[in-house]
Amino acid sequence: MPLKYYTHGRRDQMKVALTFDDGPNPPRTDQVIEILNSRGARGTFFVLGKWVERWPEAFLRIVDKGHAVGNHSHLHQTHLGDFDRAEAAIGNLLGRPTQFLRAHYFNFFTCLYSPVALAPEMKIVDADVNPADYAKTDPDAIVEATLNDPALAGGSIIDLHDSTESDDDALRLARSLPMIAALPAIVDGLQARGYELVGLDEMELVDPVEWRPDGRGTFASAAVRSMVNKIGD
Ligand SMILES: [Zn+2]
Repeated sequence: MPLKYYTHGRRDQMKVALTFDDGPNPPRTDQVIEILNSRGARGTFFVLGKWVERWPEAFLRIVDKGHAVGNHSHLHQTHLGDFDRAEAAIGNLLGRPTQFLRAHYFNFFTCLYSPVALAPEMKIVDADVNPADYAKTDPDAIVEATLNDPALAGGSIIDLHDSTESDDDALRLARSLPMIAALPAIVDGLQARGYELVGLDEMELVDPVEWRPDGRGTFASAAVRSMVNKIGD
């Protein structure tokens, strides 16, 4: 069975999905929720199992405040498809399975080793708008990269990050997160264009992409892989 993933929803509807990877990360995730809720927007949080275990209450606040959640692996390690372990941590609190999964580093080959990822009811979700917020320090640059992305349209899925995968707590907490300063302008800008900001559970995902093994998974480091990807472009 081929592995399929989605990058967007229906193009004929004015819905856009903001997605946030690598949390929960209190108190920053709470700041994100506050910005969304104060503007009548919903988001989808692709959480890591290890952070859900460490901050179960922060995870439950995401759900209680009305947002969608998805599985983004347990440890966020390059070659490890530990979605089943993450699903156990998430499902234990959620009381039901997640519907959405995002491969860490978009390494789709890691899904091949996970029954949870391959379950027919699980939707593997990429994004069509990638502002690379994690690599930017200036909030305005994140706003710009999001709102001026040529792919931005009805049905777009935007990939942002409310945390980091780092196991170093001091680093995680000390690291600035300019995405949070950028988020109000992103939400306002999208709403001003008439987009409704919905959770992935309100978006009809269409045009699945069939993933084909490309050998890139054999490269161990993210730096090498990104070089190889550039050569392949
Ligand atoms: Zn991630």
